[in-house]
Amino acid sequence: MNARAWAAARNLAAALRGGHTERTTTRRRWFGAARACPSWCASDHRCTAQHGYSGGEHRSEPLVWRTDYGTLMASRVETLSRAGHVELRLSVRLDSDDQVAALQARMLTAGVDLAASAILAAAKETGRPALRAAG
Ligand SMILES: [Zn+2]
Repeated sequence: MNARAWAAARNLAAALRGGHTERTTTRRRWFGAARACPSWCASDHRCTAQHGYSGGEHRSEPLVWRTDYGTLMASRVETLSRAGHVELRLSVRLDSDDQVAALQARMLTAGVDLAASAILAAAKETGRPALRAAG
């Protein structure tokens, strides 16, 4: 038996006797330090960041719009590394005709993509002059 195997056997015997004191492995800590929530965070069961989970996120209460076509919900989310995003959930009533419903679903998905791209580009262009003026 080589020295490493002998050490492992001694550690096992000590652990079985309940006297194990030598740490042979490192354990990652499950809980990190508690985090303070930003003012927009719901700070309730939706927020997993306040408990210090490594994948925790601050999450706002959702804004809900009920429209003629369905419901749109928006939530602001931010990870512990300060990466922020908005989550949108759109629920739309589709036509009872299956072919029309399929076309509505495709066109709606493409339209949401186009609208998001256009809005994000416009917001970036609008924000740039202000940043240049400030700098
Ligand atoms: Zn929070």
